[in-house]
Amino acid sequence: MPAPTQLPPRDLWIGGEWRPATGGATYVSRNPVDDTPITEIADAQPEDVDAAVRAARTAYEQSGWRELGGAERGRVLFAAADAIARDAEYLSALETLEVGKLYKDGLFGDLPAAVATFRYYAGFADKLYGTTVQLPDYAGRHRLNYTLREPLGVVGAITPWNNPIVVAGWKIAPALAAGNAIVVKPPEDAALSLLRLAEILHEAGVPAGIFNVVPGLGETAGAALAAHPGLDKLSFTGSPEVGALMQHHAGGQFRKVTLELGGKNPQIVFPDADLDGAMPFIAAGNFLHQGQVCAAGTRVYVHDSLVDDVVERLAAHAQGITLGDPFDDAVGMGPVINEAALTKIMGYVDGGSAEGATLVTGGKRQDREGWFVEPTVFRGSQDLAIARDEIFGPVATVIPFSTPDEAIELANDTHFGLNAIVYTESLNLAQRAARELQVGNVWINAFGIPDLTTPWGGRAGSGLGRELGPAGIEAYTEEKTVQMMF
Ligand code: NAD
Repeated sequence: MPAPTQLPPRDLWIGGEWRPATGGATYVSRNPVDDTPITEIADAQPEDVDAAVRAARTAYEQSGWRELGGAERGRVLFAAADAIARDAEYLSALETLEVGKLYKDGLFGDLPAAVATFRYYAGFADKLYGTTVQLPDYAGRHRLNYTLREPLGVVGAITPWNNPIVVAGWKIAPALAAGNAIVVKPPEDAALSLLRLAEILHEAGVPAGIFNVVPGLGETAGAALAAHPGLDKLSFTGSPEVGALMQHHAGGQFRKVTLELGGKNPQIVFPDADLDGAMPFIAAGNFLHQGQVCAAGTRVYVHDSLVDDVVERLAAHAQGITLGDPFDDAVGMGPVINEAALTKIMGYVDGGSAEGATLVTGGKRQDREGWFVEPTVFRGSQDLAIARDEIFGPVATVIPFSTPDEAIELANDTHFGLNAIVYTESLNLAQRAARELQVGNVWINAFGIPDLTTPWGGRAGSGLGRELGPAGIEAYTEEKTVQMMF
């Protein structure tokens, strides 16, 4: 697909209509391939965020969305899913333009995943049941105890740029299916696909004010939404640093919070691993989307007997990746998101060498315009910053181990706890690792993407709560208990 060349400026979507930001504030969205401007986007000010939350409250109370019934809300969301599928090429092109994500990964990965998420929760909308418990009679009277699942009210969602429509969809689809209204603050680097989603949801029949999008900067629009007293829940996906601020705002207001934060995830290669099968996954865990994936497995623990082999194969894989135009099907990696990310990544790469890690391949910014970093492989050790911090770039650190105990101990030696990947042909070892790894998600013999039928989320510094699966919609409901005597 050829890249769209000119895009019209975009406004805020509040109460079912497009509005400029207060004072006409805008910011410029830029293409990370060459830093050229893509378009101007309204920059929501705190007054605009307030207007969006108020519009959402009014719509929640008056539009009839929550009273519509699950089947009818599901019908609207199925129609939205069909429209996302219809517009997949356009939406994917928007994300490639703004994020530098490979167009083919968006079209065949992110967009089908977003469609599936809307369909999954559309199907769930009429299956949100409470429970019934018959209690023993008391004082000669019968008792009945049951629970109701009610929507929460107004949900705020603050979302990241790396998989814009997929990750936002994990919040938007269940929140709407459960009957809530929602205000989304999309990432400043990638707001366009979610602004297009506003039109899609409107066409599909979501009432005015039930879905609102307030693009803008994190420190202003994001902070205003996070602090707004009119929210019943805030769902945040992003960095642990900003996630901690969300907790701070929520704490004083006793508000529900879901936090999907970063990771520094281990991939453990046990001595009996099928390396031919494992290597493509180990590589993808480091270089997919330029390593800008929360689930990335950039701490690669390899048994002593395989470490030379894995380093050689991972380096060969890295050297075989072509960097370039993410719209080009032959390209394997596009740019990283922006100059600040490039500077951060290069800081870690330089620091890794300075701290004594062995640079095996990569390690340089490409000599061209835009934000291109070579896929990089280090041999290192646990104590290095490259092995401890989330770099959010294409930087792998391979660390040897001798025993399963040591591998699991090294993997658990982190303040994160999102996911872990284990490669072994031994059922016992796989099951032991699955039990002992202190993470929210374990993948055995594959690095993958979260599956929408089962929960996704982290422990410790990787977050609070779960998205996806039944838990992902229950998190947008209040379960009320009713006890009756008759
Ligand atoms: P980020 O924390 O910089 O930004 C996330 C969102 O928060 C953006 O919309 C941003 O505008 C907003 N924001 C920034 N400062 C804010 C503030 N002071 N107040 C309120 N909002 C503010 O993260 P990012 O760079 O967009 O995304 C990368 C991070 O997200 C990584 O740590 C990655 O691991 C994590 N992530 C996690 C998951 C997951 O499922 N666990 C998925 C994707 C990304």
